[in-house]
Amino acid sequence: MNGSTRQAADFLRSYDGAKIRLMEVCGTHTAEISANGIPSMLSDRIRLISGPGCPVCVTVSSYIDRLIEYSMSENTTVLTFGDLLRVPGSGGSLADAIARGGRAEYVYAPSRVIERALEEPDRSFIFGAVGFETTAPVYAMLLEELLQRGIRNVRLLTSLKTMPAAIRAVARLARDAGEPVDAFLAPGHVCAVTGTADYAALAKELQVPFVVSGFGGEELLAAIYALVKLRGRGEMRNLYPRIVRPEGNPRALEAVNRFFAPADAGWRGLGMIPGSGLLLREEYSSFDAGSAELSEDRPAAGCRCGEVLTGRITPGECPLYGTACTPVRPVGACMVSAEGGCHTAYVSSGGKGRKKEADLT
Ligand code: SF4
Repeated sequence: MNGSTRQAADFLRSYDGAKIRLMEVCGTHTAEISANGIPSMLSDRIRLISGPGCPVCVTVSSYIDRLIEYSMSENTTVLTFGDLLRVPGSGGSLADAIARGGRAEYVYAPSRVIERALEEPDRSFIFGAVGFETTAPVYAMLLEELLQRGIRNVRLLTSLKTMPAAIRAVARLARDAGEPVDAFLAPGHVCAVTGTADYAALAKELQVPFVVSGFGGEELLAAIYALVKLRGRGEMRNLYPRIVRPEGNPRALEAVNRFFAPADAGWRGLGMIPGSGLLLREEYSSFDAGSAELSEDRPAAGCRCGEVLTGRITPGECPLYGTACTPVRPVGACMVSAEGGCHTAYVSSGGKGRKKEADLT
């Protein structure tokens, strides 16, 4: 730990100012904050809350249900990245569907989608394309290759979200509930693609600070220190300049804009948010498997993921946490992914969960 990090750590440990609620928006930040033991390094007056930045966590149940329907359809195979197989829809997961004879496979990279399509040219493949601005360029490159190689037996069921409108919605929800978010750790990977302008604008609009951070323990401590110091100021700071440029990644943005257009999107816990998603453009609709119709969310009975994702409760405040719901047998999406707030809390605390709001003095 260098001198300035030690100074930041000392300040954060002994902080005795007004209570402050900081939201990390990115699921990888959530996981790294826990992995580095950062919550235990902070004064009880600084509370970290997880936001809606884990892609499978914010995916609505109707999307999972549709993938399950496809998996049970004749001559059709669903392909997804790993976590999605275990995310519960309104009546079970894709993994459950496989046990009932459904066809769904894990792929480790989009190149595997191409391989599977070529291996069985007469079979229809549905690729579950979930993610944020960070993964949208990957799907754009896949579409480019499908076009170039004339592969026509792959369609995408997309659930692609964009962060700024969701952050605005979370901030308003928290403010209306009387528990405002005082500062945001901006999503570092997303900013590497999109740039920082949206976050500077949000900081100004919401009159709270945003800090773009890397993912190392010292980087996170420095970012939290900056957020506490900036409290009350509608300013954005980029503390991750080696990766995040103000203009983002123009090539990635160009690829995404070619295939996708902004659209309204349904979020678990937040409902439909105008302009918070991406859908395939009309000219590429032959690659779309019906993504626009999916916004309804019917989580499992008792699951409070929506409140966890918006910072209204901690994972430990859900009655199912660590009892009916564990990483081995997840009831809700937030317990599935290593980036999910409930999963992270469970793993890092041995099932005890983070502090409750009532524990703060
Ligand atoms: Fe949902 Fe499980 Fe988290 Fe409760 S503990 S909110 S059931 S994921």
